[in-house]
Amino acid sequence: MSFTPSTAVRGPLNLVNVTLEYPDGEGTIKALDAVDLTVQAGQMISLVGPSGSGKSSLLAAAATLIRPTHGLVMIDGTDATGLADKDLTALRREKIGIIFQQPNLLASLTAAEQLIIGDHLRGKAVKAARARAAELLDIVGLSSCADKRPHQLSGGQRQRVNIARALMGDPRILLVDEPTAALDHERSDSIVRLLRRVTDDFMVATVMVTHDTEFVPLTDAVATMRDGKLTAPVLTAA
Ligand code: ADP
Ligand code: MG
Repeated sequence: MSFTPSTAVRGPLNLVNVTLEYPDGEGTIKALDAVDLTVQAGQMISLVGPSGSGKSSLLAAAATLIRPTHGLVMIDGTDATGLADKDLTALRREKIGIIFQQPNLLASLTAAEQLIIGDHLRGKAVKAARARAAELLDIVGLSSCADKRPHQLSGGQRQRVNIARALMGDPRILLVDEPTAALDHERSDSIVRLLRRVTDDFMVATVMVTHDTEFVPLTDAVATMRDGKLTAPVLTAA
């Protein structure tokens, strides 16, 4: 008999007792202090808290970009902290979509190419990638922008390309750090609504760091970071 971890119970993303220390002169800074967090498929959690409280560190640990000092980072039932770098990279590409504040698009590539290059790194066929890229650009409202380069797009459109790119690998988890920090109110609202829609439609587990509590009601629950400690998520009134 083989043992398959029950992701239905634990969710695609499950952090267990995660502590992260950075070296700091003679000592260390505890950026994450015994953090527990479970996010279910189709669930969107807001992560709030003051600057320096550890929000980006939590996303980096969940993204498997940083190995925690202690604790487990379970990605769709696999403990990422036990994997070799090569396997970790493969797991990340397969399961996790990452959306940071700055879209970091490549200046010389069109919107469609920004998406296709990621699939190339995943070793997928270019033809299928082209079709999927067109589909995703349509989903994020950019079907007419497929051949535009970043300088021909607005800030909001660039963030939409970023979101579509993060969805290219059909991730189970979306990690989003201050997606609206560079946008005006109206564009911020439409970006958070788009993230809500893709969370529902693709059944991903989404964590969104936001400084703007106005958008919290669009998410299912809000968790607060303070000095590296995370409160249990509080359900938002629907
Ligand atoms: P937030 O995103 O909530 O502003 P961060 O996760 O960026 O918080 O930072 C949490 C703490 O960890 C802060 O004290 C910050 O100075 C520290 N920190 C973040 N990244 C590093 C790093 N690469 N090296 C050392 N300290 C860091
Ligand atoms: Mg941050």
